[in-house]
Amino acid sequence: MPRNMAPATIASHRDLVQYWVSDASPVNEAAPKGYIERFIHSEIYREHTDVNSVIHSHSLGVLPFANSRHSTPVFDISKYYGPDDTRDLLIRNADLGQQLASYFSVDRDVREESIQRQVPYAVVLMRGHGFTAVASTIQECVFRAIYTQENAVVQTKAIELSAAYSQMTGDSAKVYYLCEDEIDPAAAMNNAVWDRAWGLWLRQIATEKLYIHEKPHA
Ligand SMILES: [Zn+2]
Repeated sequence: MPRNMAPATIASHRDLVQYWVSDASPVNEAAPKGYIERFIHSEIYREHTDVNSVIHSHSLGVLPFANSRHSTPVFDISKYYGPDDTRDLLIRNADLGQQLASYFSVDRDVREESIQRQVPYAVVLMRGHGFTAVASTIQECVFRAIYTQENAVVQTKAIELSAAYSQMTGDSAKVYYLCEDEIDPAAAMNNAVWDRAWGLWLRQIATEKLYIHEKPHA
């Protein structure tokens, strides 16, 4: 993971720190300060051995969904704080990370309501905080994380339009989602095309002045 710094300023491998999956401690004890929430990553890797990439985000576009009720899993940290934990919503220790990691499984008892899907979750929302996405590759995880945000923006607009239409006409309007039998084929289609988006994002980073690039030999 990067050391504790602004993401766009990560310039070379020297800004990366290796951590043990077992307890999120740095492999090199003299490593620079790391992110507090690295337990999100270590505990997901510990529990889900098919996951090779984890992205945690505080995306503004997704936050409204993390703060509302619907069928996507929402991790509510207030259920899991230990007596001595700082109640600031952050995943500050392995116990909280373990609770979050369990939300990616289908056999949790929190699946109490309408969730019927029999596949592990790719994204878990976190109340008042953001979301975490997982995948078997870095590229797929980046694709999921970015499109979690893009889709949240689209869905927000659809909900707003629907509400406005209802108010104007007095008719009830509904938001249309994927049909159940479209979900798996749509996911397979996305998995077949993510490399196009990946190429674009690499190009954006290479040409965007916000990012700092050191030559590999520097
Ligand atoms: Zn966070």
